[in-house]
Amino acid sequence: MLSREENDQRLAKIWADVQIYAPTDAMAQDVFYEYWKKLGMILCPDCSSDNIRRVDGERECECLDCGMTSWFTSGTLLSRVKLFKSYLAASLLFEAGLTISGPQFSKLTGTPQTSAYTILRKFRMAISNQMSSDAEQFSGQLVRLLIAKRTLETPANSHPFVEQELIDEALQNDLANNIEPAGASDDENFVDGINGDDQDENLSEYEKVKKVVLSLLSDVGLTADTISLRTGFAIGKVTGSLSELELFGEARVEPGGKYFKGAPAKQSQSQIPLTETIIIALTNFYEFVIEYFHRVGRKGLQTYVAALWCTLDRERWGRGSVMHLCGTHPPVTYREILNYVSPPLLNIIVG
Ligand SMILES: [Zn+2]
Repeated sequence: MLSREENDQRLAKIWADVQIYAPTDAMAQDVFYEYWKKLGMILCPDCSSDNIRRVDGERECECLDCGMTSWFTSGTLLSRVKLFKSYLAASLLFEAGLTISGPQFSKLTGTPQTSAYTILRKFRMAISNQMSSDAEQFSGQLVRLLIAKRTLETPANSHPFVEQELIDEALQNDLANNIEPAGASDDENFVDGINGDDQDENLSEYEKVKKVVLSLLSDVGLTADTISLRTGFAIGKVTGSLSELELFGEARVEPGGKYFKGAPAKQSQSQIPLTETIIIALTNFYEFVIEYFHRVGRKGLQTYVAALWCTLDRERWGRGSVMHLCGTHPPVTYREILNYVSPPLLNIIVG
């Protein structure tokens, strides 16, 4: 995965390019048209002829064989859209393997917030739909910490108000500090085969967090937020540690989000074997969400897994791939976006 800094620099570059090459929505629309035309994707819906006439900047096309007029965006992901420039920028950034949140996209491109959210969600849904049967499945339970964000579903009285404020402040700080991805940097500090207390010196920062978190767990349940408050560790690091401890049977979580020491009485993931590759993929997913989105809603979870796939599989999602997808994927309506719910078992492409 790219560093956050490089990601953001490249985002800015793409947006600068869009402003040079397609400074208006009409011109961005032309870019899509030309690209699809080049790939032979602009065909008359009636007679399938590619003998099509269109005036620059127009959506309407005329078939020179049968005379039918139609919109070249009909039946595509760009059906009825207006903000072509934003769609072009989003296509280019996805196919460059970059990541952006709705608010950041809105700020970078001047796209209104709701549209920014809609556009990105459309792309993530469309990309998610391209996951083949090669995808492995995992239980959403394993990543529930990422979705533990206080949403409308969270009972308002589950935490004292003051604690809530502290948490919010901690979250703000995390965002401001861009949270270092857990365990990303100090692998080389880890020295094998050292015994005794000295070992602590050689643990990576992430391992240290995990160790402290584990030491706090007991038969008395603690939430991730409480652990974060007690230790001063960023919530992202605490949740990352907890999920890993849980994966390896050192912690268990019970309804209400409280963590206890020890393995669960019965495995929630029992039907699905957890391979090492899935664990690695899930660890990547944690880092990805925490870095770019902090946390996400449960409903959209699958689309973020898809977004990570796009980031990592540069062969599948290389240049032109997303602009092509815009022309082949059926429209995604606003209602479909609102009603989208991730499947109980999530799909992830590993390896
Ligand atoms: Zn025709």
